[in-house]
Amino acid sequence: MSMIEAALRQALRSKCRQKVGAVLCAGGRVLAASPNIKRNDPVIDLRHATFHAEEAVLRRVTRPAGATLYVARVSASGLPALAKPCPRCQIALASAQVRRVYFTVDRKNTEQMHPMQIGSESTAHGI
Ligand SMILES: [Zn+2]
Repeated sequence: MSMIEAALRQALRSKCRQKVGAVLCAGGRVLAASPNIKRNDPVIDLRHATFHAEEAVLRRVTRPAGATLYVARVSASGLPALAKPCPRCQIALASAQVRRVYFTVDRKNTEQMHPMQIGSESTAHGI
């Protein structure tokens, strides 16, 4: 199973309307994996309406620097859909020094971004 498939499996676990999952890896090892989490989930506090999947995994690791994050969203029909990290998550990922992010674009493609390189172009890949 690829890491992006692992992120898709996390997304399918989400109880949010927008189903997003994220897996943080380093050296081929999974550091943390999570779907996005609603505010009323007992394991989180009340400061945010939703923890995006990216934020949820960052909260679970102590040393995310240099890691690679895989983010996936599944549409209502259960297919991979655009999961580009929002500006808030991009800032959080850059400050955590996550080196590379792969996210689903549609059912066939992923793109890559480098949060620490402001204004970097993303590039397309097949899943
Ligand atoms: Zn976000």
